[in-house]
Amino acid sequence: MNAFEALGLNEQLVQAVTEMGFETPTPIQEKAIPVLLSGTTDFVGLAQTGTGKTAAFGLPLLHLIDTAQKHPQALIVCPTRELCIQICNDLMHFKKHVKGLSVEPVYGGASIVMQIRELKRGVQIVVATPGRLIDLIERKAIDLQKVKYVVLDEADEMLNMGFRDDIDFVLKNTILRESIWLFSATMPTAVKAISKNFMTNPIEVTMGKKNTANVNIDHQYFITPAHSRYDTLKRLVDFNPGMYGLIFTRTKADAQEVAERLVKEGYDIEALHGDLTQQQRDKVMGRFRSKSIQLLIATDVAARGIDVDGITHVINYELPDDIEVYTHRSGRTARAGKSGICITICHSREAYKIRSIEKMVNAQFHRLDIPSGKDVCRKQFFHFMDKLMDADISNGEYETYMPDLQKKFEEISKEEVLKRVAALEFNHFLKYYQHSDDLNAKTDSRERREYSSRDSSNNGERGERTSFSRSDNGYSRLFINLGTKDGFYKASFLQFILDESNLNKEVLGKIDIREMNAWVEIDKAAAPAMIKSMDGKKYNGRLVRMNEADGGFKRPTDEGRSDRSERTEGRKRIPMREKR
Ligand code: AMP
Repeated sequence: MNAFEALGLNEQLVQAVTEMGFETPTPIQEKAIPVLLSGTTDFVGLAQTGTGKTAAFGLPLLHLIDTAQKHPQALIVCPTRELCIQICNDLMHFKKHVKGLSVEPVYGGASIVMQIRELKRGVQIVVATPGRLIDLIERKAIDLQKVKYVVLDEADEMLNMGFRDDIDFVLKNTILRESIWLFSATMPTAVKAISKNFMTNPIEVTMGKKNTANVNIDHQYFITPAHSRYDTLKRLVDFNPGMYGLIFTRTKADAQEVAERLVKEGYDIEALHGDLTQQQRDKVMGRFRSKSIQLLIATDVAARGIDVDGITHVINYELPDDIEVYTHRSGRTARAGKSGICITICHSREAYKIRSIEKMVNAQFHRLDIPSGKDVCRKQFFHFMDKLMDADISNGEYETYMPDLQKKFEEISKEEVLKRVAALEFNHFLKYYQHSDDLNAKTDSRERREYSSRDSSNNGERGERTSFSRSDNGYSRLFINLGTKDGFYKASFLQFILDESNLNKEVLGKIDIREMNAWVEIDKAAAPAMIKSMDGKKYNGRLVRMNEADGGFKRPTDEGRSDRSERTEGRKRIPMREKR
């Protein structure tokens, strides 16, 4: 007897798999098929892609369908369009000899009208991605009343992508189902919750290790003062020139603000937020997916359902309020067996959260030093040199220019040429970073892993730390009695003082903005003009005071708050960041 026949599958299916070259069932098929053929048992299969899990649920499902009934009897929900198509293809092959059985894929990004039309033809198995499925349910284009079997494939991925509510909704709307078959590579608490809330005494089968952590993710965190969060992000992006990254913020306003600032500074980034129409959102996603943009910044809500291959870095610009969300975020990298890095930028008072997240994801986090400006320049330099060495020179007919070039460069050495190439590429970086601050928070309880020990392009040399202030370098420090209480954040404050003074951004150094006041570093020569334009002005009916701060670059305290009463009125000019 054929091994598949022995598992209880009908003749047509056995014939198809035999023609496909399947000789013996894989372990998950051996365990799952006999159980699933009963049709009434809830099932949890912990199995990775590649174990034969599609046939493990696909074959019994095809066996159980009543071909005389032309309505959806089985619903397979999976995280991505690609997987949706792949499952359908597999089912098409398995059902090759079964008559009158129809399978239909429904996923986002394709015409919903066409899909509705196909569903009307009397489909028995629907393979769907959650977003599109909900769309179809809401349009009453799919009837789930008579669905007997619900399969959740790659359940952990679906939850990572933020589809938890959608899955709950689907399970609540398939009330007459006889069983749920859940497949997942890992068993995080959210997957356990589905099993607990919706399944009855499920049979659990585990293939390989039952872990909750994706071991391919390197979790890193960086501690910086809260006001240096943006600079830290920029530095980490600069330090990882090949980054293809997804950045998360807690609020829509933060996503927009960070994206705007980075775009102004020449970075390849777009923000994904709720104000975009579906069409604009698709366009942004299309650009990110095709790697026309290097970075995407989004809130958790806007990023729901994002499925992009090859994301190298996920960056938590801010930690989520709910630490469970960390798993959803980090799960966007290290997919399909690849490795990835999940970076968290936090300030020292948030560091305790890292311990809780470590426990939750069951993985060790590495605290790293924020690279110095010198580290960044070195990294960029060697990255460029690697690109130079890898450049394809096979089809540019460069040989024809060689005689002229050789003549031109006769007098100059190879080293000199390399230096000039480097100068062309790096002058802007060197200039930007020559006075860069140390962005690491001045706390130190935990051993840090330093770049020098693991980054060969660093040549084993630790970047030297520069001092906090540039004040000895031709800068004056100005005090001003405006702060975040007045509705400013750093970017808007910068814009405000530049607009008022008509000065160029280049004259400014570090800006430290606090609740009640701020400190501005400015080129000594430009300081008088700045003071003249600001001091004595009225802002929202209040007298603005600006003067040269004496002594060293003091860590701002809330001095200059005597005129508190004046702050209460008219803060509309530049709104404070709001959590939306
Ligand atoms: P899956 O884990 O469902 O993505 O399957 C991985 C690959 O294994 C697919 O190409 C299947 O066609 C193949 N496969 C599944 N079951 C068997 C089997 N019993 N014998 C040989 N190949 C199989």
